[in-house]
Amino acid sequence: MALLITPPVMGSAEHWRDTILEVSPDLDIRLWPEVGDPDDILYLLTGFLDLAELPELPNLRLVMPMFAGFDHLLGSPHLPDVPIVRTGPPDGDPAMTEYCVLHVLRHHRHMPDYLDQQRRREWKVIPQKQPHEQRVGFMGFGVLARPPARTLHGLGFDVAAWTRSERSDPDIALFNGPDGLAAFLARTDILVCLLPLTDDTDGILNANLFAQLPEGASVINLGRGGHLVDGDLIAALDSGHLAGATLDATKPEPLPQDSPLWTHPRVTVMPHTARRVRAATVAPQVVETIRRDQAGEPQLWAVDRAAGY
Ligand code: NDP
Repeated sequence: MALLITPPVMGSAEHWRDTILEVSPDLDIRLWPEVGDPDDILYLLTGFLDLAELPELPNLRLVMPMFAGFDHLLGSPHLPDVPIVRTGPPDGDPAMTEYCVLHVLRHHRHMPDYLDQQRRREWKVIPQKQPHEQRVGFMGFGVLARPPARTLHGLGFDVAAWTRSERSDPDIALFNGPDGLAAFLARTDILVCLLPLTDDTDGILNANLFAQLPEGASVINLGRGGHLVDGDLIAALDSGHLAGATLDATKPEPLPQDSPLWTHPRVTVMPHTARRVRAATVAPQVVETIRRDQAGEPQLWAVDRAAGY
């Protein structure tokens, strides 16, 4: 019984192995490309590896992606036909939480406008809403969205979220499904996208959606570049309907040098930096997932292949 680790998304493979061994010292861990006997490999922890390079792993039982988004993996024709189990911290990632809160506060406090003014040596106070007057809307209310949504609620913001299935929450107003989208958008001044990229959400940040946001709304995309139709965003900003945008993910990545997003005065481009995947935050889930599989217990963090997340 062995775990194969492919080149990680961050840090050395040896560091990932040693970090997992700190949690489970007896685990047999192989580092790509030293697979050993492919029959031994029951578990695959995958980061940066073209799955086409994998040898036949006849006894593979689970794939555990290091990433929190599975669009790339699920789109691969070489993905083994075994269950996929997510490895991110089940209570969210503090790095994503502080990053998301940072960007919401940045739009709330008109920081892009103040920086513009500073460049012009202009001393002018911009009218400021109070938090309870600022309606923040999360597209997606999953593992990564819930902690920042709750933090912003705690700061007094009027927070809502939009999900696929019907859900309820004591503090956050929840809308769901295509039928709930219009009402969600109509009450959202700062939109945060933390959706997975699926067939349903590809290109969802488009002209039709922007038109349903109130005039002066801002958009923060922390999901995937594929969620956004770049030209529609630029048109909505240029018309004055949208006030600003922050893009942590772009399509493609890196953003091409000739993209108009780089120089648009109302767009902040970030090099996909919201969350860095660290071995220490992933190791406990990897070990628990293997333990559950060995014990014949149901998995806690399985990915729904059909839904795409
Ligand atoms: P989860 O799977 O925990 O949550 C996904 C949420 O999106 C759920 O609330 C789900 O609804 C909702 N959703 C999915 N499809 C739809 C749909 N068609 N309509 C409405 N709501 C939908 O995901 P995570 O929170 O872990 O991650 C979200 C995404 O964040 C990742 O897929 C990835 O793309 C992105 N990400 C970005 C990073 C960055 O550095 N910028 C880092 C890590 C992730 P329901 O609750 O009903 O299931």
